[in-house]
Amino acid sequence: MHTLCDHAPGSNCQFPHVPYVPPDRGSRAVDPVIVVGAGPVGLSLALALTRLGVPVVVLDETEGQEDTRPARTAVLRPDTAAFVGRLGCAATLESAGTRWSAWRTVRRRRLLERVAFTPPGAPDASGAAGPATAASPIHLPQHALTRALRAALAGEQLAEVATGSRLAGIEQDEQGVTAHTRGPDGTSWRGSYLVGCDGPRSTVRKLLDIRFPGRTAVERYAVAALRTELPWPGEALLHRSPARHGGGPVAEVSARPLAGGVWRLDWLLPPGRELVTPDALVARIRDSLAGWTADSAAESGDDGAGGQGRLVPPYELLDTGVHTVHHRLARTWRQGRAFLAGDAAHLLGALGTQGLDEGLRDAENLAWKLGLAWHHGASETLLDSYQAERRGAVAARLRAADSALPLLRDGGAVRWRTVLPGAARGRSTLLTDGHLGRGPLGAAPTYARTPLAPAAGLPGETAVDTVPGGPVADVVVTASDGSVVRLRERLGQGLLVVLVAPGTGVWDRRHWQSAGLMPRLTNAVGALPMRAEILVTEAYPGATAHTVLVVRPDGHLVTALSGVRPGGLSACADAVRGGAYGRETGKTTEARAAGETGGAGKGDGPGGAPRDGAGSTAEGATGGTSGDAAGASPVDPPGSAVLHSESD
Ligand SMILES: Cc1cc2nc3c(=O)[nH]c(=O)nc-3n(C[C@H](O)[C@H](O)[C@H](O)COP(=O)(O)OP(=O)(O)OC[C@H]3O[C@@H](n4cnc5c(N)ncnc54)[C@H](O)[C@@H]3O)c2cc1C
Repeated sequence: MHTLCDHAPGSNCQFPHVPYVPPDRGSRAVDPVIVVGAGPVGLSLALALTRLGVPVVVLDETEGQEDTRPARTAVLRPDTAAFVGRLGCAATLESAGTRWSAWRTVRRRRLLERVAFTPPGAPDASGAAGPATAASPIHLPQHALTRALRAALAGEQLAEVATGSRLAGIEQDEQGVTAHTRGPDGTSWRGSYLVGCDGPRSTVRKLLDIRFPGRTAVERYAVAALRTELPWPGEALLHRSPARHGGGPVAEVSARPLAGGVWRLDWLLPPGRELVTPDALVARIRDSLAGWTADSAAESGDDGAGGQGRLVPPYELLDTGVHTVHHRLARTWRQGRAFLAGDAAHLLGALGTQGLDEGLRDAENLAWKLGLAWHHGASETLLDSYQAERRGAVAARLRAADSALPLLRDGGAVRWRTVLPGAARGRSTLLTDGHLGRGPLGAAPTYARTPLAPAAGLPGETAVDTVPGGPVADVVVTASDGSVVRLRERLGQGLLVVLVAPGTGVWDRRHWQSAGLMPRLTNAVGALPMRAEILVTEAYPGATAHTVLVVRPDGHLVTALSGVRPGGLSACADAVRGGAYGRETGKTTEARAAGETGGAGKGDGPGGAPRDGAGSTAEGATGGTSGDAAGASPVDPPGSAVLHSESD
């Protein structure tokens, strides 16, 4: 039996003492978190946990090598790319990934839409990051991502990766969980929690007897990775009804650039299970390449082949495969001390939805919650919130895809024309939103009904452009050491308390801490029951001067407060911890919030009256009264599963 703990008496201790010592460690765990599966989701979860000072053991049945598969790629949105970057893989994202400069939608030979992507973090007029709807994603081979995560984890003292270890059994008790493995080193492992990141055929899910209902083979794509030159370097293409294809009828083909002149091409296959022969795939490749070259030449008035008909540009075929998209959602994502994440919990992928992106969001969401539970002791509300938030978000995504598909495939076009005005536009939106990262199919999720919301009617709550539970804008912020960074770079460790203070860009950094509202804010943040960092920003979309934003470790807004309000801040921290603080101190969120009076102090430094006198009206405004103290945030009602189709 492996008992991996930091300083339990007589343990076979493998980990150094954890440096972060929270004040209320009486009930904290000592055994590591067991992560089953060293795919991208398991590795990123393990890394995120070690960054929080939580020891992890990663069990994987393979020998720890990642096959090179250029056709198995991943599209990371700005939030998940930032998460992976913070885990130490930013260099890999830059070297192995590419950012698309635009997305083109073409029907036959007609360009329907060209959406230019904003480079990540590019400021708009307000100084906020570029609009999320058009922020460019990163596209990279999955093996490059997995290798980078594995290398980063190898440098972590708090992590042990046990390869050749196939999970075969799980036992849970009050104190922890025991995992039994098979393989050359088959043994038992003792952990505080266990997370099944073991892919679509998840052993953890099966051992926990959790159902995985949904639909099989919702869509199938023939996939190829090839090196060639296409007429729109750096731009991704969705081509509907391309003119002619030797390999069989093609309703849709996409071409998405990768680094090094490589492209991933996906041809939507007709429903059914027929095999795609190598000859048929080569015919598709040649037809698509020749068609695009000819179309581009025709646009420029040249037939592209010197009058010799259609020409296939030179290409080097690197990899092929068939990507079958299933839609499935595990009924339960938490059972006691065991959780599911990534493909073990959900399968999706139709219409540009990205399964791996969602898996990384699972990892980011669960890491800080397990970190809090490990250091401070578990709150049931906190641990349950993982399922409420993440399962709810993926369910909504699947629901959106499930309702769009019948309209788009199998004669759905006819239905569009007969039923709906503006059908062409709606159809194009449904086909591209997932790829573009917008709307219900593609935008980063908002946890509007999270159980971790503070009670309604918190005094001083104020509206900004981000709704509570939504992902915050990646604004430029100044940290207490004077460094100027993007907000997303500071996520992952604790709460972020962001003061909106216009005009501070010109202030001498040496006087930050003592100026204006800062001493009061520093005191309030120092008294919070969890780790928190103060940041200052010149502007935030929709925020007036002296607004204080409270941001969760995964970048979702808890709420915005007008001015410095110690009671409001501690109510937010309490809610984010699942109410643990209130229970420990005998105070409730509402009781502390109700004691709140107007919070903003006056001054001439950061957060005080700005030099130009602008934006000072919010100061001292109490705004709102103690409202509905019941305020319990609803979660997905039991049995509200999205998938209404066949079960597994
Ligand atoms: C051809 C192809 C193209 C794809 N394209 C895209 C795309 O464009 N975008 C996208 O988002 N996704 C895409 N996917 C899907 C994507 O690869 C998955 O969503 C992703 O791999 C999920 O990561 P994961 O870490 O959850 O699981 P996995 O990557 O499946 O990792 C699971 C790990 O668990 C281990 N394991 C399994 N069982 C056990 C056990 N009993 N004990 C110990 N270890 C175990 C496995 O060895 C593996 O290392 C594609 C997939 C394919 C095949």
